Amino acid sequence: MDFSKLSPKEQICEAGRRMYAAGMASANDGNISLRQKDGSILCTPTGVSKGYMEPDMICTVSPEGDLLDPGKGYTPSSEIKMHLGVYKNLPQVNAVVHAHPVYATTFAAAGESLTAPVLIESVEQFHHVPCVKYAAPSTSELADSIVPYLKESTALLMEFHGALTWSSGLLKAYMKMESLEFYARILYQMRAIGSTNALPDDRVAQLLEIKEKLGIE
Ligand SMILES: [Zn+2]
Repeated sequence: MDFSKLSPKEQICEAGRRMYAAGMASANDGNISLRQKDGSILCTPTGVSKGYMEPDMICTVSPEGDLLDPGKGYTPSSEIKMHLGVYKNLPQVNAVVHAHPVYATTFAAAGESLTAPVLIESVEQFHHVPCVKYAAPSTSELADSIVPYLKESTALLMEFHGALTWSSGLLKAYMKMESLEFYARILYQMRAIGSTNALPDDRVAQLLEIKEKLGIE
């Protein structure tokens, strides 16, 4: 499937299907948004399984969160403020994905940032993933709590809650959630076998240099 050929609303439905199929959003968990060229934001409806969405269920809101189009009569995600906070602070970002992947959420529940350099892809993609202190879901408190981390990281965990990724496009933001979960899973399993192995600092620096040379985003 060529993701880029899908309409923006279809992209959200497809990302939701993948997220649900990958076990990263049980029941009605998770939410996805996509900023359009006119600045309005498409977002998933609340109270709906992200694995079974149709394009006419997707809501549209203004950058301030005002409802512009409820889709087929749905209410925007209760976490829309968190998404709007990302768009407001990162003009180059056009897609935000929030999910509860099992291993990443295990570290989030434990209040642990992911810092161990144990996979070359994770070092290149995340360097480290901070865990933001608990804030109540759906509130401005949560939206405000993530702001200090947006410019220094490319993904984050939210304590007692789940994970957040963002990027210039939806496929990239979604893939980042998969990569984050893979990183968390490997970290978890390394602990299970009692390993504290990690790349030394000079090798991490070298990897980051290579990444810059190759122009990896
Ligand atoms: Zn959540």
